Amino acid sequence: VKTAASAAPPSSGYTDRWLQRNLLNFSELALHPTLLANLRDQGFERPTPIQAESIPPALAGKNLVGLAQTGTGKTAAFVLPILQRLSAGRPGGVRALIVTPTRELAEQVNATVVSLGRGMGLRSAVIYGGVGMIPQERALRAGVDIVVACPGRLLDHMGRGTVRLDRVEILVLDEADRMFDMGFLPAIRRILQALPAKRQTMLFSATLAPELRELVASAAPEAVTVQIGQVRPAHTIAHALYPVPNHHKTGLLLELLRHANTGSVLIFTRTKHRANRLLQLIVREGHSAAA
Ligand code: ADP
Repeated sequence: VKTAASAAPPSSGYTDRWLQRNLLNFSELALHPTLLANLRDQGFERPTPIQAESIPPALAGKNLVGLAQTGTGKTAAFVLPILQRLSAGRPGGVRALIVTPTRELAEQVNATVVSLGRGMGLRSAVIYGGVGMIPQERALRAGVDIVVACPGRLLDHMGRGTVRLDRVEILVLDEADRMFDMGFLPAIRRILQALPAKRQTMLFSATLAPELRELVASAAPEAVTVQIGQVRPAHTIAHALYPVPNHHKTGLLLELLRHANTGSVLIFTRTKHRANRLLQLIVREGHSAAA
């Protein structure tokens, strides 16, 4: 067993290379030339797995359920098909609605809409609570093709008649599991009622609770499901597995802690007893720790 240092984990580099070899290029996805140029500018050469699997059915107008975690590239997986579709069709009114659980996510998604949509002549607005209504109303009144919104504030605008959703062709429910956890399902149902029945719906979620399955059945009938296995964790996390015999586990862990260049570490054990035992050993090494 080699001890860890901060070297890249052995498995992820190799799985990445395998994926890169076996995945197609963006140019094979029949995207608008401006989108291809914007992808190049962003340094996106090849689609990530969720993009490679979602974009073709999404471009074909199918309803879609994408089961993938954050950090897998799912934002571009729905933003690219939206931009492609809106670049064709007849302009006028809000044609794409993206609903997200948090303001931060709404801003992030809109940033991707802006960067990948550069030069496409499409306008977007971001709508969430905790800030003034007036600038949002002004943006909506000026006319937008794409709205990225959190559910509560979107309902406020709907109630005031400052946003009209009767021309929406594409709906995206992003991080649906989080929206469910945050109690937004009733709001989502009310938003759905304001949308044309004839539309494309894409729902993204890390997992599908039974309530979300119901939502999919009613809001996105006959959806194509795309599931991305745990190829690797989020971009920000290095992931490694060390197969070691039992009697070496503690020694290896302490060695890893010696090399860890971070102030906070979370360790999971199978039993309380083991957690307490490990705590003693870790503290004896001079770390401050709690069980
Ligand atoms: P998610 O929406 O799944 O949380 P993001 O769309 O934010 O993930 O993507 C995670 C990161 O990967 C972002 O920094 C994004 O710019 C980058 N990214 C997305 N798609 C690609 C791609 N095809 N090639 C390279 N980088 C990409």
